[in-house]
Amino acid sequence: MNVLVAGGAGYIGSHAVRQLIEAGHRVVAVDNLYRGHGQAVDRRAVFHEIDLAETHALADVLAKEKIDCVMHFAALTYVGESVTDPLAYYDNNTAGTISLLKAMKTAGVKRMVFSSTAAIYGEPDSTPIVETARLEPVNPYGWSKWCVERVLRDYAASDREFAFVAMRYFNVAGAAADGALGEDHDPETHLIPILMQTALGQRDKITVFGTDYPTPDGTCIRDYIHVEDLCAAHIVAMNALRPGDTRCYNLGIGKGYSVKEVIESARRVTGRDIPVEYGPRRAGDPAVLFADADKIQRELGWSARHTELDAIIATAWKWFERHPGGYET
Ligand code: UDP
Repeated sequence: MNVLVAGGAGYIGSHAVRQLIEAGHRVVAVDNLYRGHGQAVDRRAVFHEIDLAETHALADVLAKEKIDCVMHFAALTYVGESVTDPLAYYDNNTAGTISLLKAMKTAGVKRMVFSSTAAIYGEPDSTPIVETARLEPVNPYGWSKWCVERVLRDYAASDREFAFVAMRYFNVAGAAADGALGEDHDPETHLIPILMQTALGQRDKITVFGTDYPTPDGTCIRDYIHVEDLCAAHIVAMNALRPGDTRCYNLGIGKGYSVKEVIESARRVTGRDIPVEYGPRRAGDPAVLFADADKIQRELGWSARHTELDAIIATAWKWFERHPGGYET
């Protein structure tokens, strides 16, 4: 298939570009390089520096490259930033996707695999979270993605040939097995990269945000899914899409680890001292989030290959050891 990857220079998009190529697809990557890294884009892909707002430029590329399916990863993803600058999130994530859909309509492209998020569930009533759970985001980031799922449903109802699948990610982690691609965010706010940077001595310590949660060790529990497993699920979902499909799937491993367990795993994997301090809760963090990922297994036969945290963190460590300064070095 000819696949356009929007956000192809980002953490997840760059892994998807490479996997799609290795699965035999022809890939055109677009990215505005605002937070993405040109070096992360596989050289075998065609690359265009385009912003989601550039509807006409996108439509041209979609038509000229005879694109069959769009995988859409381009998004702003910091929860805290979405609270302080909600307009940027609705503009980039929601309006940006509408611009991309308009371009797809012009070019007659009828399939989209969309990066959604577990943040659209907000504070869950129960865990594990199933796809039919109440959707009530607790921050503008989650709402900006919720809006897109709504738009996709309405658009699909208006065009019976259009098909989409919304992939609702839990915590994406790890790096390419060969250490060539990985996570390089600025600023870095995520637990595992911060642990890796602390193990490398780039940070003095990690602060645990809250030890008084109603969990066995008092710290938050999350479901960490390996980035390559996540991308594999996208390809499986893309191949399964039929005209008129409106699907959504949780992407997690269906198992939760506490912050303290993640720290212990990082210490085991790196063999380094990782100093910890205990701080107050971070606003907006639910105590426990993990996926019921049975639906995608049942319907598409996908399940995560990396089910142990140590194995996931080992790939992150390989990337950080080889690229201590990220893509710049
Ligand atoms: N966390 C932490 N210290 C940090 C960063 C994260 O204790 O420096 C915790 C955070 O409160 C959450 C978990 O680690 O419970 C995962 O956070 P992350 O930001 O990686 O992902 P999120 O769950 O927010 O998407």
